[in-house]
Amino acid sequence: MAVTKKSVDSKTARAIGRALRAWYVEHRRDLPWRRSLDPYSVWVSEMMLQQTQVATVIPYFQRWMQRFPDVTALANAAESEVLHAWQGLGYYSRARNLQRAAVLMVREHAGRVPDAVEALLALPGIGPYSAGAIASIAYGKAEPLVDGNVIRVLSRLFALRGDPNKNPLKNQIWAHARALVPEQEPGDFNQALMELGATVCTPRAPRCVVCPVSKQCQARAQGLTLVLPELPARAKPTAVHMVAAIATRAGRVLVTKLNADAPRWAGMWLFPNVEVARSETPEAAVKRALLSSTGLSGKPTGIVCAVRHSVTRFKITLDAYRTVELSGTAKPQTVAEIAWQKPTALSDLAMPAAHRTIAERLLET
Ligand code: SF4
Repeated sequence: MAVTKKSVDSKTARAIGRALRAWYVEHRRDLPWRRSLDPYSVWVSEMMLQQTQVATVIPYFQRWMQRFPDVTALANAAESEVLHAWQGLGYYSRARNLQRAAVLMVREHAGRVPDAVEALLALPGIGPYSAGAIASIAYGKAEPLVDGNVIRVLSRLFALRGDPNKNPLKNQIWAHARALVPEQEPGDFNQALMELGATVCTPRAPRCVVCPVSKQCQARAQGLTLVLPELPARAKPTAVHMVAAIATRAGRVLVTKLNADAPRWAGMWLFPNVEVARSETPEAAVKRALLSSTGLSGKPTGIVCAVRHSVTRFKITLDAYRTVELSGTAKPQTVAEIAWQKPTALSDLAMPAAHRTIAERLLET
């Protein structure tokens, strides 16, 4: 279906808009980024909220705004400082893109977050959703946005069948979002739509009896609330076994900094680690991790700790092995840098969450 302003008739759009905005004024959660309409705050919060829960984001957002209070401060910060502030939030390309975009905003937009969707889309890390969020929430422009919550609400409100992440339904949902967004208070309307999805029109137990748009909801009328949206079944997570070498010398532990072009965690500090191959013992893998990244040989003894975490569709178990009898000269091999750090100094380095957990564990042992 073509993207058209006519996908929802104007009477229905007005009724939905009124009901949602009235509900939002009364029920919206008090979140730190909602206390000001400063475009920089809106942008940072929207980037943090992608793939991440609100409760997790709140303390990160507050610390970030203290550390990098505006576009210029972020543009001028060292990348290591930016990654350090982001550590634990995951999907680190978001942090790098924030900084790259800040540099471009200083260079091309006088240090301001631009207000036009086209200009926003030209910046790294800003896609149609984020551009719509910034333009409508921070600048009051009648621009639509579509995220997972909006997909669910609109699929149900209009009983839209099919996979909403694929065309033609994907376009149709954007067309509905565009047709619904009002000229008056578009930011509140867009936030209301997302808030409804987050708190009322939830995936498994929509609370239709308290829903402000239940009268207009076609899924409710047709008994389809739990059928829609028709998302494809998620692939089963793949189990991955990884090991890390915890090699120490004179009270200092060996850590490695990944190359700037590493596919994941570029520029961050990790303990030498590899995935255990099928035909390999964990101990052999620990030796391989140490040798391949630093050129050192060593002997794994016991497990210091095991960390379980998920990255995209992978369920990872990371066993950290204390590694002794080190020999050879440590030099960066497949990594950018190596360093021998006191365990108490590891907190100054940007580390992904699983490796941060190991570092904290080392302080207890
Ligand atoms: Fe969602 Fe139920 Fe409201 Fe429909 S009536 S939008 S299914 S909460």
